[in-house]
Amino acid sequence: MKNASELKKIVIVGGGSAGWMSAMILADTMAAKGVQITLLESPTVGVIGVGEGSTPALKRFFDSLNIAESEWMPQCHATYKSGIAFDGWSTKPGFTGYFHQFSTMVDKLTQPAFIDNVHARLQGADVPAHPNQYFLSHALVEGKLAPIASENFPFSANYGYHFDAALIGKFLHKKALERGVRYQACHVTHATQDEHGDIVAVHTSEGDAVRADLFIDCSGFAALLIDKTLKTPFVSYANVLFNDAAVAMPTALEGAIAPLTVSTAMKHGWAWRIPLTNRYGNGYVYSSRHCDGDMAETELRHKLGMLDSDTHARHLKMKIGRVDQHWNRNCVAVGLSQGFLEPLEATALYLTQMTVAIFALFLDKGDYSEQARAVYNKEINGFFDGHRDYIVAHFKTSSRTDTEFWRDNTSQHDGISDSLKHIFGTWLQAKDLSAELARQDIERYYTTGSWYALMAGMGLFPAVRPASAADAAASESQRAQMREFLRRCTLNFRDHKLVLQEMAAAARARQ
Ligand SMILES: Cc1cc2nc3c(=O)[nH]c(=O)nc-3n(C[C@H](O)[C@H](O)[C@H](O)COP(=O)(O)OP(=O)(O)OC[C@H]3O[C@@H](n4cnc5c(N)ncnc54)[C@H](O)[C@@H]3O)c2cc1C
Repeated sequence: MKNASELKKIVIVGGGSAGWMSAMILADTMAAKGVQITLLESPTVGVIGVGEGSTPALKRFFDSLNIAESEWMPQCHATYKSGIAFDGWSTKPGFTGYFHQFSTMVDKLTQPAFIDNVHARLQGADVPAHPNQYFLSHALVEGKLAPIASENFPFSANYGYHFDAALIGKFLHKKALERGVRYQACHVTHATQDEHGDIVAVHTSEGDAVRADLFIDCSGFAALLIDKTLKTPFVSYANVLFNDAAVAMPTALEGAIAPLTVSTAMKHGWAWRIPLTNRYGNGYVYSSRHCDGDMAETELRHKLGMLDSDTHARHLKMKIGRVDQHWNRNCVAVGLSQGFLEPLEATALYLTQMTVAIFALFLDKGDYSEQARAVYNKEINGFFDGHRDYIVAHFKTSSRTDTEFWRDNTSQHDGISDSLKHIFGTWLQAKDLSAELARQDIERYYTTGSWYALMAGMGLFPAVRPASAADAAASESQRAQMREFLRRCTLNFRDHKLVLQEMAAAARARQ
């Protein structure tokens, strides 16, 4: 790859969410240095068009680009998201559903009590150790409240969003053009390389050869440059994440809007339900080894009460894993081209954002050496593997055994990483999990609160000793105090749907 002073032109291949997020971040950091950024998009190959949930990192993305929620959210039918409810993942009495919270500052007050009780329960004490009762995010979801605190409430809440995947791409497209990114509709057929293997130009079916110093491959699962051209090895996660297909369909939205994604365990995978301002997005992520597309569609329609509906269902295939070098020669793969974790925790756009944002730091430093590339690739691989392990943990800790899919998930442990084995071992020995996460330095992928919520939420506890009358009364009193404290906190938040409606009305008034 050329050195920093010679970097004059970046070409992004692909105009899905990954392409436009890359364009925005690179325009923000490189355009001022005189680097020209051009995005090429096929007029014949569409975007994947799913991916409607985010993590809290998406707020940082928009904030860093000075794009207000009041501008983008109404245009993308977006809602707020305080976390994910997991329904039916465990069969343990009292633990058949739990909520994976996005953190709030209030957790600093409530999480210690949760963790203390988890440890007491791991020792067999009959104390309340279900995560839902300890987290403000869950109380907000129960109350169908937007996670935006009133000004006099001194604790903020982290949150993500739900949005229309196609509209967010269009919004970013428009914004990127305003910020100087060039756009060319053309279908890339192949790339040519120089004698060292660096990409020199991409060639289009319209007859152009588009040259650049640096190429960003955002061509989705086609992986035109990182795979088809550079033949970068791919590390499959299929041995630990079985789901490789999905079927999606919308349903009507009625009534109040709770700010959460619901993930319901199904016979051969799980189903999502995501509220937008104009509809629900629904989908069933399943393992094609355990069921075919027709079976999955029927099971999803049955769940949604849509067996007789002619609403179209979209079928998708997913390739689960990652490349081993996201930055290879003068090409960086971003989005589905670099890899994909099944969407259980809605991490794809977050990984996209991190991939480009961290790459932009390397560009800024001007170090494009082989050593810099190795450091970068190790970092991004760490993000993928760390997030993979948290997702894998859902399947391995489930107590469902009703179908081959769940029996295979819970009985096949080949390929589980050493990191995850240590996490499970620490939990089963009732040792300090937060110390183990810190020892492994993996809290930047998922926090202590997230890990405790998952393991406790699944009901991974030994049989409890019956509580004495005094202990039961103490537990009930603690439960009541926590409930009352969180209820009082929620008085500082407003109805989610109302907040969204006011935002949309203000946006219309501005037009
Ligand atoms: C079932 C499912 C659910 C998901 N849920 C979530 C979620 O909840 N949250 C989340 O963050 N992510 C989710 N994702 C992932 C998310 O959809 C993607 O990460 C995101 O949309 C980015 O996709 P992309 O831009 O990499 O690829 P795509 O959207 O596929 O875009 C590829 C682009 O490349 C272009 N292209 C392809 N071939 C050529 C060519 N020959 N020449 C020129 N251009 C070309 C296409 O025109 C298109 O513009 C989900 C994915 C799936 C499959």
